[in-house]
Amino acid sequence: MKKYVYLFNEFDDIRARLGDDWDAVRGLLGGKGANLLDATHIDIPVPPGFTITTEACNDFLAAGETMPEKLWEQTLEAIRKLEEQTGKKFGDVSNPLLVSCRSGARFSMPGMMDTVLNIGLNEEITRKLATRTDRPRFAYDLLRRLVQMFGNVVMGVPDEVFEAVLSAQRRTSGVTTDAELNADAWTAVIARFREIIRSYTGEEFPSDPLEQLKRATEAVFKSWNGRRAIDYRAAAGIPDDLGTAVNIQTMVFGNVGENSATGVFMTRNATTGEPQLEGDYLINAQGEDVVAGTRATLPIARLGEDMPENYKSLELIARRLEKHHRNMQDMEFTIEEGTLWLLQTRDGKRTAQAEVRIAVNMVEEGLISREEAVARVKPAQVDFFLHPQLDAEALQDIQPVASGLNVSPGAAVGVVAFDPDLAERWGSEEGRDVILVRPETRPDDVHGLLAAKGVVTSRGGRTSHAALVARQFGRPAVVGVEKIEIDLENHRMRIGELVIEEGEHLSIDGNSGLIYQGKLPTVVPDIANPWLINILSWADDIRRLGVRANADYPEDARRAREYGAEGIGLCRTEHMFFQEERLPIVRKMIMATTQTERAEAIASLLPMQCSDFEGLFRAMDGLPVIIRLLDPPLHEFLPSEHELALELTDLKLQLQHAADLQQLDNLGTEISKKNDLLERVQALSESNPMLGTRGVRLGLLIPGLYRMQVRAVFEAACRCHADGVDVKPEVMIPLVSNASELRAMLEPLKNTAKEVMKQHGMEFGYLFGTMIEIPRAALTAGEIAQEAEFFSFGTNDLTQTTYAISRDDAESGFMMHYLKNKLIRDNPFATIDPEGVGRLMKIAIREGREQRDGLEIGVCGEHGGDPKSIRLCHELGVDYVSCSPFRLPIARLAAAHAVLNENQPDR
Ligand code: PEP
Ligand code: MG
Repeated sequence: MKKYVYLFNEFDDIRARLGDDWDAVRGLLGGKGANLLDATHIDIPVPPGFTITTEACNDFLAAGETMPEKLWEQTLEAIRKLEEQTGKKFGDVSNPLLVSCRSGARFSMPGMMDTVLNIGLNEEITRKLATRTDRPRFAYDLLRRLVQMFGNVVMGVPDEVFEAVLSAQRRTSGVTTDAELNADAWTAVIARFREIIRSYTGEEFPSDPLEQLKRATEAVFKSWNGRRAIDYRAAAGIPDDLGTAVNIQTMVFGNVGENSATGVFMTRNATTGEPQLEGDYLINAQGEDVVAGTRATLPIARLGEDMPENYKSLELIARRLEKHHRNMQDMEFTIEEGTLWLLQTRDGKRTAQAEVRIAVNMVEEGLISREEAVARVKPAQVDFFLHPQLDAEALQDIQPVASGLNVSPGAAVGVVAFDPDLAERWGSEEGRDVILVRPETRPDDVHGLLAAKGVVTSRGGRTSHAALVARQFGRPAVVGVEKIEIDLENHRMRIGELVIEEGEHLSIDGNSGLIYQGKLPTVVPDIANPWLINILSWADDIRRLGVRANADYPEDARRAREYGAEGIGLCRTEHMFFQEERLPIVRKMIMATTQTERAEAIASLLPMQCSDFEGLFRAMDGLPVIIRLLDPPLHEFLPSEHELALELTDLKLQLQHAADLQQLDNLGTEISKKNDLLERVQALSESNPMLGTRGVRLGLLIPGLYRMQVRAVFEAACRCHADGVDVKPEVMIPLVSNASELRAMLEPLKNTAKEVMKQHGMEFGYLFGTMIEIPRAALTAGEIAQEAEFFSFGTNDLTQTTYAISRDDAESGFMMHYLKNKLIRDNPFATIDPEGVGRLMKIAIREGREQRDGLEIGVCGEHGGDPKSIRLCHELGVDYVSCSPFRLPIARLAAAHAVLNENQPDR
């Protein structure tokens, strides 16, 4: 018989079933259930309870939302055991057992699914409780919460309707907070709630505690497939088939009076990672009051003054649980009449900045190893250190219009949307930068929040649900901005005198919590964070894959070095040819009809190239610099046929209206020049320039061109060498498909190199190699390696030519359809296709190295900065990856992960 229900104290039963496989325990009991079982086992004061497994949820959903056989029986049995443990009785009038019913999936999804509290109450029990405890207000408040949550979660009545009744009651009673409402007020509210439920559903609120429990459990199961849970899972990459567990736990009450309290906190600061308790609590309240952000909470440190003994215990528990889990914890607690209870603990969600600092601090504290610290930081988190920040200079001249809590770092600039659906439409569908502004942060806003660049709320604290979500997904956020009054009806907000309409620009700073009117400029910061530097240097100790940069200018090369480049893996020389003053000379070279004309143009490019390369060698002193000779199709340098034809028509028109002979003459000459140009452009035009005269083909057709480039490389290297710079030039030939091309090309180039060094009387090491970016080259790599001293995979062109998909159109059209319909797993231009392109690489690496021992092999396509591709490169035995300077820190970390994940299945 399937066991669907485990009491929190049945640690041994779970062990007997799943052994030490904690992952499997989390899979079965959900994260929350597993942690409560574990905490109970190590004697943390947890209110007794039990977990209904994810297996039960999946069986329930698979059977068309019907309770699996035996599940209810086992639940009743567990309730009986709870009664034994607590000495209370479920449904009993004089000594009632009340329970909460909460979801708890394997991966935490804060607030994304449903909860019902105070199950087990009804009118009769409440009446008795009111007289017995002499706290009628407390008793009726409990029943009110049950009716409200049950009405909303289980019976589907919108919560706003209940909230409207509460507002009306506060007005009638002349009070501002719920805490001031007395028993009579609550009785009136409950009666109104019941009427609302009746009119919305045609049903009565059930007074049978067992029916309440059963229906609440079913509702939690169903909430796994609710919209906000589905949206969250899609964004967080959580599989849809895991199901949620349900935790039934004895209620303890933080709202029994002034010696009771409830709160949530993290064991370290979730924004910065500082090692101190961070969170909020409320005296005389229930947990939802803290997270809903509707009452002003107190910072957790204040509990040290209000309830010093309890605070001390809390600190001890926090330390114990951190040590036990070897991770920062996010905990909920309740103090019921002086007794402290832990309601839940889980690994805390945190910003990338906090992740990095906590990982380093935990190594220093001896809690985790360096390898674990490196493994914990995800490559994408490193991106947040390169997050845009508001431009400090611009901030000098501008005052913020409001401030709030800085819950998620980075700057966001965009147009204000007050509605999550609108934020989604503007952000996801229309590609606009949006700032979502809401009165409070609710789980239902998640789709709008994910589509927005940043989030602002006028209420809510650090632990509010959407603040957690914003942090997790790296959306800059400022919450609890009390000065903002949002007028949802009229789509505007007011900050004092200032009115900001929906669609106007707002700039927010998630680091300082400040908000500015208008569109401020942003800057990308340097990554000088000391903890990140630690993590990256540990990653460097672990990784075996080298990292180089794709850099064309000395400025990029300097930055690359700062970010950890071990050389330049690709300098695309054509980028230098596009510079404004050079383009006319390049055009002259292409259009030349005589050898002399061409030679002149090439010669005037030489000094320019020389100074480009000099800058690179100096910046990379001691490190290899790969200079790739000219690659792109010639038409990229020429004016388009269409443009020229238009210009000609215009000139001919002018000719018809020429005022005098002189003008006629001038126009005639110009027309004839343009005609020549057009003819040349037409002669050079190709139907498929990407598959035409580019790369080595160009080098072979215009021999002086590559020779000039090689001369420039070695002239520059000699000059630097003379100044004591350690130069390591590597000359790379692009788009080779046949060893014969290389053979024909390399001999004159090597001679040029030797000639220049001889002229300067110098000698230093250098290499001549090739790109492998055409399948034929990969398949004949052995032969090619006879000529080439190094290989570098151009995975952009290799993907284009292997897949026969144009790299320029890949992000549109059918590819989107393929990705959406899962016809391919990943965009092959973002992540190397392991079976096709990866296989070609494997062949080329094997055959290349068989031919030439120790052949240096790199990857310089865009994939060089993609963590998944980096893992593949590591597995294939590539020597280094080369990527843009800004991706280098990510590449360093991903390369370390590749080592740490060796022999692990792909994730
Ligand atoms: C490549 O094809 O992967 C490459 C690096 O060269 P380019 O992108 O310049 O064609
Ligand atoms: Mg290429």
